[in-house]
Amino acid sequence: MKRLVILGSTGSIGVSTLDIVANHPTLFSVRGLAAGRQVEKLAQQVKRFQPEWVSVADAEAAERLADLIDDGPRIVHGPEGLLEIVGIDDVEMVVSAIVGAAGMPPTLRALAKGVDVALANKEALVVAGRHMTAAAHSAGARILPVDSEHNALHQCLRGEDDAEVAALWLTASGGPFRGRKKDELTQVTAEQALAHPTWEMGPKISIDSATLMNKGLEVIEAHWLFGLPPERIRVVVHPQSVVHSMVEFVDGSFKAQLGVADMRHPIQYALTWPERRAGTLDRFDPVAVSRWTFEEPDLDAFPCLSLAYAALRQGGAACAILNAANEVAVDAFLAGKIGFAEIPKILSAVMLAHRDADDATIERLLEADAAARETAWRFVEQGVCT
Ligand code: MG
Repeated sequence: MKRLVILGSTGSIGVSTLDIVANHPTLFSVRGLAAGRQVEKLAQQVKRFQPEWVSVADAEAAERLADLIDDGPRIVHGPEGLLEIVGIDDVEMVVSAIVGAAGMPPTLRALAKGVDVALANKEALVVAGRHMTAAAHSAGARILPVDSEHNALHQCLRGEDDAEVAALWLTASGGPFRGRKKDELTQVTAEQALAHPTWEMGPKISIDSATLMNKGLEVIEAHWLFGLPPERIRVVVHPQSVVHSMVEFVDGSFKAQLGVADMRHPIQYALTWPERRAGTLDRFDPVAVSRWTFEEPDLDAFPCLSLAYAALRQGGAACAILNAANEVAVDAFLAGKIGFAEIPKILSAVMLAHRDADDATIERLLEADAAARETAWRFVEQGVCT
């Protein structure tokens, strides 16, 4: 039995992970669950999976949870609670599925302890990729990507020699606004942006998919996971989401990983790696999806993708700053405070304002993150001069 801690258990990835666990009762046991404030949902998970530790957002949520469950699991809370729960003894894998930079410290802690991480929280690598990969390397921990594109790349790279890889090709669905021009995007609403054509996901990642920021964050994530420079990480729009990503080799040959758009597939792969296990999930039918297309991303309409490449080239804390500004801009857009077209303007202005920040230590990165959020909120309130 592989002993798991799941961070973000009530979110979309967390629920899918528990579904895989429930389908393989002899393979996995759940030692710890961490969630935010969805206490009722968490209480049901606690009853079903019997973890020994549970972590929630704050003391108030901890009290509400204690009222809903029998005595048993130890309840902790806040950022310290997350660090405690990844530190419990004998855990073999942490599933890191908290949304946003908040997932970085516990993910880093797990890796530094030598615990393998199934990583859905791409922001952790975007913010602190250099520190995360160094910690994993020195403690002998592995990062198994859950993000469908990176999971696909991981599968394509199995058994291959790194020196023979020419480029990584990340596929992008293009989001709900694919094909629209820049001036057609100024009036789009949060509701329209939340309606993703092929994947069902949480609100933050759905908005990121609509702006193509999600793909930008994934370029940065791919850089840290697979060690290729930005010019060898390509993005191609593939609206059917059948090909989850591709690797191009030096001899011109391509390898692609294909499947249905269901996150439980990459989650199961990460959880059972290096083995593959038979499962009950839907299978891919190549005949049912008879038409597959590929096109260039429209960088004029979706400048967030270019900003991510720029941040990666800039280095230092630029990716952390881009990510922090994006988290603020997405919140502001979802709250109706800014328009869709203002998101990239705010990101670009915040990057410029904090261009000198460095990533020498985690503390410096967290300072840069906090400062970037403050600047981003100021731009949300006051507008960006362009
Ligand atoms: Mg993805």
